[in-house]
Amino acid sequence: GRHHDNERSLEFTYKGVTFSQHELHVFAGLCAVDTPEHVETMMQALQEHGQVCTRMGVYKPRTSPYAFQGHGKSCLPYVFELAGKYGIRVIAMEVTHENHVREIHEALEQTGHPTGVMLQIGTRNTQNFELLKAVGRQTEMPVLLKRGFGITLEESLNAAEYLASEGNSRIVFGLRGMKTNMGDPHRNFVDFAHVPVVKRLSRLPVCIDPSHSVGSRDRAPDRLLDVMHVTAQGVIAGANMVLVDFHPAPEKALVDGPQALRLDELAPFLQDVQVAREAY
Ligand code: PEP
Repeated sequence: GRHHDNERSLEFTYKGVTFSQHELHVFAGLCAVDTPEHVETMMQALQEHGQVCTRMGVYKPRTSPYAFQGHGKSCLPYVFELAGKYGIRVIAMEVTHENHVREIHEALEQTGHPTGVMLQIGTRNTQNFELLKAVGRQTEMPVLLKRGFGITLEESLNAAEYLASEGNSRIVFGLRGMKTNMGDPHRNFVDFAHVPVVKRLSRLPVCIDPSHSVGSRDRAPDRLLDVMHVTAQGVIAGANMVLVDFHPAPEKALVDGPQALRLDELAPFLQDVQVAREAY
């Protein structure tokens, strides 16, 4: 059902894109930037499908220290340059240290395109209070704060208060599935039924991340269908943002390749989101 309670929704506009409990934006893109060619192919496809937002992972919080950690600041110049070329306005990009905020800020200033970054705090850092405070102190770039995978909802909502109390209330709250010990066909237990609850409790726009919820093709052989089904559930429940992994060549991706959708799946995915949105 609709909860068009305008007074309660916190909203903000960034780089011409408005975020509120009444909007819906899809952030399809690369879990991890690997090559300029893949970034360009991805952004070109987004432009062809009328998209102005994307996700680009640059600083990756990996479970193993021996796994690819992301290119870091060295790839920012070409990522922002290509974003400008293809009319991308907002890029969701995770930061794991406050230095990353400065690096992103500097690289954006040097680019000169009207592209911006939504800083993402990942599920491993939901309660990294020093990082939250540092990100909260900068008040220009909005923040996507993901729910902690093993803490209560209230604890994750309190983490959002750390951002707001430092001065940044341009916050989107992200649901990305929960770890359980019950056995699960998916990587994480899908928590998109909590979209309306979080909206009611927080006044924040709410993002869903079907990719990190469902996980890889091995677990979900008909992955497009599984990802679409959980996305539709979240959108029908009133999600305001969808963060989703795509890759031009998933078999070559350096992070979570088997979890990414292929570019030929972008059109049906976006169409499904549209249908679900109309059902909301
Ligand atoms: C990500 O979005 O790239 C990511 C690592 O997500 P999460 O923090 O939800 O695991």
